[in-house]
Amino acid sequence: MTIGIWVLGDQLSAEQSALQSCQPDQCRVILLESSSVLQRRRYHAQKLVLVWSAMRHFAADLSGQGWTVDLRECERFGDGIRSWIAEHGISELRLMEPADREFRRAIEALQLQVPVIWLASNAFLWSREDFAAWAAPYKQLRLELFYREGRKRFGVLMEGEGSSAEPLGGQWNFDQENRKPPAKGLQGPEPLWFQPDAITEAVISKVEQLDAALPGSLRPFHWGVSRSQALQVLDHFVETRLAGFGPYQDAMVSGEPTLWHALLSPYLNLGLLHPLEVIRHLEREGLRREVPLAGLEGVIRQILGWREYTHGLYHWFGGDYPASNHFAADRPLPGWLEQLGGSGMRCLDTVLEEIAASGYAHHIQRLMVLANYGLLAGLNPQALTAWFHRMFIDGFDWVMQTNVLGMGLFADGGRLASKPYAASGNYIKRMSTYCKGCRYDVKARTGDNACPFNSLYWDFLARHEGELRRNPRMALVIKQLDKLPAEELGAIRAAAGRHLEASAPAPR
Ligand code: SF4
Repeated sequence: MTIGIWVLGDQLSAEQSALQSCQPDQCRVILLESSSVLQRRRYHAQKLVLVWSAMRHFAADLSGQGWTVDLRECERFGDGIRSWIAEHGISELRLMEPADREFRRAIEALQLQVPVIWLASNAFLWSREDFAAWAAPYKQLRLELFYREGRKRFGVLMEGEGSSAEPLGGQWNFDQENRKPPAKGLQGPEPLWFQPDAITEAVISKVEQLDAALPGSLRPFHWGVSRSQALQVLDHFVETRLAGFGPYQDAMVSGEPTLWHALLSPYLNLGLLHPLEVIRHLEREGLRREVPLAGLEGVIRQILGWREYTHGLYHWFGGDYPASNHFAADRPLPGWLEQLGGSGMRCLDTVLEEIAASGYAHHIQRLMVLANYGLLAGLNPQALTAWFHRMFIDGFDWVMQTNVLGMGLFADGGRLASKPYAASGNYIKRMSTYCKGCRYDVKARTGDNACPFNSLYWDFLARHEGELRRNPRMALVIKQLDKLPAEELGAIRAAAGRHLEASAPAPR
């Protein structure tokens, strides 16, 4: 009997449950590099390089630890796994439960002729069962409660013991201290990037030769591709960025795509780093170095709170969630999104240019520029979610369903967020340096120079006024809408209409 272990591209950890279920001398491991994925999704070129190169490095690392590992390049992963099973007489196939639902469905649809054993995932702090047990009693789930429970359950940034434990510093959340607009000339520390080694160069050449013209620049490629590089990025974050992480985490600055952001999400989402090891390391080092608690708590909340929460919700909400479209938004994506530039709006073009260069933009650029535009313009939520999934270096189905559909677009009608995160140009002006030098006037909401975020914002409120009026958290903005003279509102909506008409959809 030969046990086979199939390691998926986002399960690159020697500690993952399928590998943990076996000894190196008792089984054979397979990783499949399938190019047919591109028929369904035109991924950013660097994302493909990152995943394939990380798989090759992980295969080499596992071999070095005594495992028998095969890495196969194939057109379709169904053909790849079948021929491998036949070649090596595999009698039982084990996999760790994938984070993305679609992987399990696709593997089950192969109807392989050997038993397939699914091992519960240990890639997150919260198992699906534990999350379900926490969520079940609530009518309305809220991040803050989940996060507090996580702090207590895993004993992170707490003082005291057992039921008398209290949050360190006397409060759970220091968000208010972490929302500073950019100071003049704000510059973050240099991030840690890597030169591609021979393995990565081979993958880059392969991607260059693919038939599919993929979005984004392939070079320069500077992401880490192995666990050892991911650990270096974690150390570098602690050394150079952790102390300054807090205040400017929502700021957006032209020419400064990374500021103090940790840049750990690609490595966490591939399994190269485990969230608990990252949290423990940050807590230990942050306290030892006496970095400001607001920043330390802020970065831990992103991993222990938001990341675990969105993953838990993805599985808790289940299979109907991806089809959510609360506002019945059906506008196709404009061509400049697929082309990663050319919108004429400086905020969007700056963010798109940064995504083209590296597949990365930080959370406020994603939420308050890209998703905000999608919400206001009524872009189809499924198309925009798929775009996020394809373009971001750290994008997976479980990440983008809740972040884009739920948080960004309110397409789930409030199952995740308590109100739509709609904002006019004023927010972007306050929190970024983008508006200086933009061809649009951020103070105008009518006329040809009106900032599109302004005209679209009021158009969005007017379009969904009846529904938004029922949400107490929208009361203030609806009051402002009520005060707008009908004639002015008509001119604003006309400007929004002209803007949308001028945004040609991407060719199919
Ligand atoms: Fe964006 Fe409007 Fe500012 Fe231009 S003026 S950068 S479109 S928010």
